Amino acid sequence: MAFDPFTGVEVAAGSPADRPRAAVLGLEPPRYCAECGRRMVVQVVPDGWTARCSRHGQLESAAGP
Ligand SMILES: [Zn+2]
Repeated sequence: MAFDPFTGVEVAAGSPADRPRAAVLGLEPPRYCAECGRRMVVQVVPDGWTARCSRHGQLESAAGP
């Protein structure tokens, strides 16, 4: 079982999630860990965002050059 990173709702593997467009585009940081559904600590940084799960560590937005 996985969790939608934007809503925290359990989703079946492979099912398309109903997400805000900004989230799909990567502009919106995920708020929940996709692996455990915990709420993550999100920080917006100048070039994107970071999100930290207490169990699974930190995610970062794709940092393009
Ligand atoms: Zn996690």
